Amino acid sequence: MAWTRKIVRINLTTGDVKHEPLNMEWAKKYIGQRGLASKYLVDEIDPKCDALGEDNILIMTTGPLTGTMASTGGRYSVVTKSPLTGAIACSNSGGFIGNEMKNAGLDMIIFTGKAKKPVYLYIEDDQIELLSADEIWGRSCWATDEWIHTTHQDPLIRVACVGRSAEQGCLYSGIVNDLHRAAGRSGVGTVMASKNLKAVAVRGTKGVGNIRDPLAFMQAVNAGKKVLADNAVTGEGLPSMGTQVLMNIVNEIGAMPTNNMRDVQFAGASKISAEAMHEPRAGDGKPNLTTNAACFGCTIACGRISTIEQGHFTIENKPEYFGNSGGLEYEAAWALGSDCGIDDLNTLTYANFLCNEDGFDPISFGATVAAAMELFETGAITTAETHGVEFKFGSSEALSKAAEWVAKGEGFGKDLGLGSKRLCEKYGHPEFSMTVKGQEFPAYDPRGVQGMGLAYATSNRGACHLRGYTVSSEIMGIPEKTDPLVTEGKAGLTKAFQDAAAVVDSTGLCLFTTFAWTLEDIAPQLAGACEGGWTAENLLEAGERIWNMERDFNMAAGLTGKDDTLPERLTKDIAANSGPAKGRFNELDKMLPEYYALRGWTEEGVPTPETRQRLGL
Ligand code: SF4
Repeated sequence: MAWTRKIVRINLTTGDVKHEPLNMEWAKKYIGQRGLASKYLVDEIDPKCDALGEDNILIMTTGPLTGTMASTGGRYSVVTKSPLTGAIACSNSGGFIGNEMKNAGLDMIIFTGKAKKPVYLYIEDDQIELLSADEIWGRSCWATDEWIHTTHQDPLIRVACVGRSAEQGCLYSGIVNDLHRAAGRSGVGTVMASKNLKAVAVRGTKGVGNIRDPLAFMQAVNAGKKVLADNAVTGEGLPSMGTQVLMNIVNEIGAMPTNNMRDVQFAGASKISAEAMHEPRAGDGKPNLTTNAACFGCTIACGRISTIEQGHFTIENKPEYFGNSGGLEYEAAWALGSDCGIDDLNTLTYANFLCNEDGFDPISFGATVAAAMELFETGAITTAETHGVEFKFGSSEALSKAAEWVAKGEGFGKDLGLGSKRLCEKYGHPEFSMTVKGQEFPAYDPRGVQGMGLAYATSNRGACHLRGYTVSSEIMGIPEKTDPLVTEGKAGLTKAFQDAAAVVDSTGLCLFTTFAWTLEDIAPQLAGACEGGWTAENLLEAGERIWNMERDFNMAAGLTGKDDTLPERLTKDIAANSGPAKGRFNELDKMLPEYYALRGWTEEGVPTPETRQRLGL
């Protein structure tokens, strides 16, 4: 259904549960999900508040297309202030819980305050109550999910929960739903755990309704599905190879961050690629990949389900990890693999399982381990800190142990749970931290893909590929090819991708549709589903409004234009040392002034009064 027009507000301090109508004036300006929940956040909290204090709020939110027949319309987001970056955080997830929230009749759940003791929220249509989580606090996400299903005797309940890493304060913990989907970035799970909120369990049976014009909606939805099916990326590449299809491609063009971003190509890339996941492996002769998987309503099905070879050292005496579970996406394979110099698919799959089992972001985790390996190489940390483990690039043992420690917040895992920035500062080498605004980089080296450098530097949630995926154009030629080594035109490209992503993240759809869809494909689906007179033009303006609103929040939180930057390693210390970008740095300083001008911001990166007025902020 489109907007249900209902919010439930949970005061964790008092235990009060209150219903309120959705602000429809805001809904027509900010669409839903990321945009609309961010509007509520901006309106309700002091941007300077302690992200892990009682005054921060946590919003679980759907979009107007969540739970509808639109392809990929199962997304939901978590919006809060990030403890990792101090900036606004919005983390998006698929799976099935977004649809379940809609079917329980809810657009949004807003958590305020902090519970005195661990609790979980149980929703069964109109029955909404906080229950004791004493029995699940201290358990993993997988154990929590199982306990809730067993306790409530209902296999159809959908669960989103935090694992032990979040309880122990790991700053990049996510919220895992449906066992292996996650609102993974920026520490949204750490905020949830700080409120003593262990899980949200939802069972919704109200069904679909409230579509504004069912015939127009279904015509637009069916046309959109055909576009996805006919497209080489969404109809073929992603279902068969997953996002891992990018591993060999990005490596070849010399944009594969390797060994804590000192190198741009990884000799072992083919061993951890999508192709390798299909091949029979040594040991049991089975492939790593068992099948693909889809989130609710998705006709792309990019998800990976994998196993680990039974005799592998990581799962000796741990048969529970052999079984099918969420396999490697490209971002996880890169961060756990090339950035740590590790080319063993079994090890990466094991570490990824642990990220899912205890809910921590594999990108930030892998990049933090890579930073720790560089610290170890220089002697800034030693085996005294790492419990005797040699923390060397390429060490499967180091990665496996690190994942086990972070999962439970044990020993050196506490340090690793700080994230790369705080870890490197603690051990005296802040220059080793490959972060923007305190968040670790994703898998595209900005020396080899210039536009991504600008997208990372200006991202509202710290380094992130999903806030402005210029890779689409610079590497894949979608919607048209631009040269990844050229800076001209990248300011406009970055702005366009950022505004469009803000739209898609606010609708209930998956960003991966944009390999095939433009806003021209999305607008008629949204216009059929709900009022607002949506067109590609007014959607793009809504995206720009959302972007500027997030920027305003960050400025009020204390960030400035000086935070729109990249580590000096990428701009002047270490040039790309191989591949097509050999000898190049990222030339952020050539792109940033034009970007600010296109955004209608001052030279210091502040939205001008005229811009704010134009966008109705
Ligand atoms: S494309 Fe992949 S991530 Fe997106 S909704 Fe489909 S299965 Fe989920």
